[in-house]
Formats: sequence, structure tokens, C-alpha cells
Amino acid sequence: LGERFSPHDQVRPSMLSYQHAYHAGNFADVHKHLWLYATIEHLLRKNSAITFIDAHAGRGSYPLAAEETARLKEYQTGVKRLWDSRTETGKAGAQNPLLTTWLEAIDSVQPRPQQLTHYPGSPWWLGHRLRDQDRLTLFELHPGEHGHLARQSLAGEGQQANIRRVHGDGLAGLRSLLPVKTPRLCVLVDPSFERKSEYQEVAETMIHALGKVRHAVLLLWYPLLPAGRHQELLDRLRASGVRKLWRSEVILHPPGGASHGMYGSGMLVANPPWGVSDSMQATIADWLPLLGDAARHEQRWWVEE
Ligand code: SAM
Repeated sequence: LGERFSPHDQVRPSMLSYQHAYHAGNFADVHKHLWLYATIEHLLRKNSAITFIDAHAGRGSYPLAAEETARLKEYQTGVKRLWDSRTETGKAGAQNPLLTTWLEAIDSVQPRPQQLTHYPGSPWWLGHRLRDQDRLTLFELHPGEHGHLARQSLAGEGQQANIRRVHGDGLAGLRSLLPVKTPRLCVLVDPSFERKSEYQEVAETMIHALGKVRHAVLLLWYPLLPAGRHQELLDRLRASGVRKLWRSEVILHPPGGASHGMYGSGMLVANPPWGVSDSMQATIADWLPLLGDAARHEQRWWVEE
């Protein structure tokens, strides 16, 4: 189960207040987990072993009726709209192959099939297809969140020994694991961005990781907020000389106006497997009408090959 890990830990658990349960299943989770799912599907087409690392794991599963999740009900405009569209002929979830299998995967974690009561977190998305040759390490710093993660099942029984759940800082933890023994590496970096300095720390860790494992597939999620801090992170990565960074952003409405909140969701993917961006283009185009008239998707190379 859990273990304590803090060799270079500069973040005290007491500094953490973010809890993902308040946002589970929202449009940003859908954006991030569709990318994660599509990427994993592509990587599993080859037999060679993969090390998966989730630097900011959160929980394996979020009950939608939990007090925190039920307070804001953000899942209603996220996963729930797609889920409901499955049965409406001609709608996104009924048509698009990636959306269909993604929703089937979500169905497989429901205690009662066909009833959406739970939403899986990234540890489950990374763990549920784990093969004998693959490894998964999950970092979670918040003691309460780590407690949930430690109790939750993420894979079939045979694969449990391949999963490590570490109570500690994910950025320091990621650095400590590199280089890895397997031929391939896939990393999710999904911080809560509670401290301004996190943008810089994330950029430096990604540059370090891609310096150690040049071919690593690294998925970074970032929020689009009116303050625009994500731009510093993206600019630092571009200036560093790392290659092959793909950028995908789902934008709900233009920044500003009355809302100071998140207006969009961003993914930066280093070394995206060939074909994933095309399948995400089609998938997000089918999902977009469910997000309102102003919603749009923009994707392109941030740094080319
Ligand atoms: N990756 C999850 C998913 O997609 O389902 C959601 C993760 S949530 C956005 C960020 C998580 O990172 C929170 O659970 C938070 O407690 C944890 N966290 C914050 N700082 C961390 C750090 N330095 N190292 C590891 N985990 C951290």
C-alpha cells in the first residue's frame, strides 16, 4: 500500500487545499482523460514494456453522489452530457468510435451497469489496461487523497503487484525514477496549480524528464485562466529546445467578461504517438456541440519535430 517518499520534498502536505472531488468528471477531466485514453490505446499496440507514471494521481474513482462532487455538480456539463448522448441517435457518444469505447470503459466501473454513479480518475485510466510487462507508479501528496487511492482497486488482480502508490511529491518523485528500465515511458503531469511557482517547477521538471528520456510520452494538463500563467510554462518549454510538443486546447468562451474562472482546458503532449492528434481532432469535434455555441478546439504543434 502507501509509502512515504520525500527526498527533495519542498511542498508540505499542509499547503494543499485542492481536492479534485469538487471537479471530478467536468469538461477538463473529459478533455484530459480522452487524451490519456487515446494515447494509452496507441501505446498498447506494441508489445514492448511501458513504465507509466502519474505525478499527481488524485483518487482512482469518484462517487458522483459524494458531498464534495454533488456540491458543484461539474460532471453534469462534462461526462454526463456525453454519457446521455450515447443513446441519442446521431449524437456524439453514439457515433464516434473513440467516444464509444471511452464511455464503455466508464460503464465498466459502474456498480450498476448503464447507471453513471462513479467517475474514474487518472490512476484507473492508467491502471486498468496494465499488462504483465508494464509498471505504474502513482504519486499523491495529500494524505487524505492518498488514503483514498491506497484503498481503491485500479487493475485486475494479476496486475496489482505492478502498481506502486507513493505518498509524496510527484515532481521530485518523477525525477528520482529517471531513466526507467522499460523501453517506453508515459507520464501524466496534472498539478493543482495552487502555487504560482508550480508553473515554473513543472516546466523545469518536464525539461529534465525529456532530457533524460528523449522519447518519453509526457502529457501535461494546464488550466486556461484569465491571468494566463500557462503561457509562461509553454514559453519556457519552447525556449528550452525540447522538440515535438503538441498543444490541444478546449475553450468554452473567450477569457474575461464576468467570470474570473477557468475558461478552458489545455493539454501539452510531448512525443504524441502517431495518429493520436488526428483521432482527437475528430473526437473533440464530435464532443464540442455539447459544450455550447461558443466552445471551440484548437490544436497544433507548439514545438515541431
Ligand atoms: N490526475 C487526476 C485525474 O486526472 O484524475 C487529478 C489530479 S488533481 C488535478 C491534482 C492532485 O495532485 C490532487 O489530488 C493533489 O492533492 C495532488 N498534488 C498536489 N501537489 C502535489 C505534488 N507536489 N505531488 C503529488 N501530488 C500533488
